[in-house]
Amino acid sequence: MNRAAQKPLRTLVGRLRDMVAIRSLSGQEEGVSRYLAESLKRTAADVEVDADLNVAAIFAPADYKHTLHVAGHMDTVPVGAGWTVDPWTPIVQDDRLMGLGASDMKAGLAGMMHCIDSLSRHKPKNTRIIFGFTICEENAVPGKRNGVNNLCERYGGDYAITAEASGAGNGLLFPCVGSQAHLRATVTFLGRTSHSAYPEKGVNAILPAAEFAQRVGYYNEELRRRWRSLWSDCPDVMTRPTVAVTVMNAGVAVNVIPDRCTVQVSRRTAPGETLEQVSREIQNLVAGLGETQVQFGRWEDACVTPSNSRLIAAGRKALMDSGRPFQPRLSRGRQDLVIFARHGMHAYNIGPGSASTGHSPDEYCLFADLLGGTQVLEGTIRNLDEMAG
Ligand SMILES: [Zn+2]
Repeated sequence: MNRAAQKPLRTLVGRLRDMVAIRSLSGQEEGVSRYLAESLKRTAADVEVDADLNVAAIFAPADYKHTLHVAGHMDTVPVGAGWTVDPWTPIVQDDRLMGLGASDMKAGLAGMMHCIDSLSRHKPKNTRIIFGFTICEENAVPGKRNGVNNLCERYGGDYAITAEASGAGNGLLFPCVGSQAHLRATVTFLGRTSHSAYPEKGVNAILPAAEFAQRVGYYNEELRRRWRSLWSDCPDVMTRPTVAVTVMNAGVAVNVIPDRCTVQVSRRTAPGETLEQVSREIQNLVAGLGETQVQFGRWEDACVTPSNSRLIAAGRKALMDSGRPFQPRLSRGRQDLVIFARHGMHAYNIGPGSASTGHSPDEYCLFADLLGGTQVLEGTIRNLDEMAG
């Protein structure tokens, strides 16, 4: 690594280590929120903290021509099985930092802080830039919501970059230009209870549920054939809807025939699909399976940013300038991109961190992915500002 890159890397690693050491499960982001608000007060950005503890650092040039959000979530997933070290004691090795949230996405937060420092020295000319540090992306918490909703409603905007880890571990960075969305369905099969010594006197709700689970498997096979390319010149910007049974609950005791079986279904939707169409397909899967109730969760449209967007041009140029190819993809499930798109913005993801290590034991961030992702994030922001001039 060359000398010029060593100082920013030291600062990035120091901040990443600070933030990994602060616990921030969804709904418990107070510590990281306070750390960021305190640090950012020393920059030239206007810092605002809302009632949910989302932090915004804002640059607003006079006569700005458009608004860009740069967003990252402060929460981490809970600690899963398999960790060999303490998840909140960051370990710095030769080429990486290990700890919970190292890549998903405290690396992104450190990279955003770097961009704020840099923009404090060389301010944007045409773009109002809102750096948003948000709560509750990983998990839903009663009474709280994903902070991206607050950002969108409070500030509006034209463009959004999420700074989730894009590093492939081999020097390459893969941006996302949109995302599939997620529809949850809950199907309840109703039967009639009886003593298990006389199963024929009851109606066992597990049997139709099992048949349903099998049909969902066939439905997924059918969806495989619906893959579709979304950008004619980029084969990797493709979408493939999927479906899976993920939760099943039934039974109260080993000697009672169950009268109720609840099945949860996770359906990943493609751009262009509608609730009407998808809900009909799931309703069709329960046909002939006795008495059922089907409930659907919140619908959001999957999103893809058009290839001729100024944001895409800015992102492409930043990658090419860094000596990397532009190889965009469509994400299978980035909720933040979907929320920004619902508010009418073009959305894009590029950021520091090692993409494949999140949500895994001994999560780590390679320094090459930390520095490279930060530089390309900054380049993308600067390019967009210049293109508006
Ligand atoms: Zn994340």
